Amino acid sequence: MLQCIGCSSALPVDVKGDAECSKCGEKYSFSENYVRSNFDKKLFDNYRKDYLLNKVLNNNGYISYQFLQEGSISLPDRDDVAGFRAFLGSNSAGGVILDVGCGVMARPGYLDFDNFKYTKFIGLDPIDDDSFVGLRLVACSEYIPLVSSAVDTVVFATSMDHVCNLKKTVAESNRVLKKGGRVVVWMSDRSMSFTQWCKDWLRRRLNSWKKGYSVDKYYVYPNWTVLGVPPGGVDPFHSFFETPEKIIKLFSKGGFKLVQSESKSKMEVFLSFEKVQ
Ligand SMILES: [Zn+2]
Repeated sequence: MLQCIGCSSALPVDVKGDAECSKCGEKYSFSENYVRSNFDKKLFDNYRKDYLLNKVLNNNGYISYQFLQEGSISLPDRDDVAGFRAFLGSNSAGGVILDVGCGVMARPGYLDFDNFKYTKFIGLDPIDDDSFVGLRLVACSEYIPLVSSAVDTVVFATSMDHVCNLKKTVAESNRVLKKGGRVVVWMSDRSMSFTQWCKDWLRRRLNSWKKGYSVDKYYVYPNWTVLGVPPGGVDPFHSFFETPEKIIKLFSKGGFKLVQSESKSKMEVFLSFEKVQ
């Protein structure tokens, strides 16, 4: 079920330790239920500037995991997590489920590991970790080391706005999915009306003047964690403001149709797409 991100030929399944693709030399590291790909080089070669920006934003993400107390979406009791678990439960195609951006959790709270309709759990994340219950891919969403039509359901839980290239991510999701397979997304709606945008701009100017530094460039947290916004970033973690409109358009162009959408709040927009071609 594994495929080389360099040349698309099948990867051996019974290898342990570091190994190269016998056809193109692409490097991998294998262990029990774990495959690490050399995705950084692949992204650097193909999306140079976007990759570098994305990497810096991800570094801020790592710092925030370390030093800032943020709600973890591994907690199944959280209302929003429970809400997405329910939405995913009724919208997934079951079978093989791929969680893109699974993080470092063994069992992300939104995935129903006890559900008999799933035959295999695969977690993908660029963060190198092997605690995931199921097959763990250290990889990126633009180059997924899985053969085509291997997956029934792809999940993006608050991870869509952390990818390097959205269009390639949608194309890869389409490739690894079987026809009729589903993509289930949890995202936020960061759209703003012109009036809201103006108010926000004024608020930020006033805040910067009061604090004596640009609040657009520096995010200063109460415990003196300070994060910088790199050129091209809209905040320390994102290169763009995600909106359901944009995501729906991208998936529609990428061979999917929107099946269901649910919006409880700006932070809880759930979308379900079916692969139609
Ligand atoms: Zn290869």
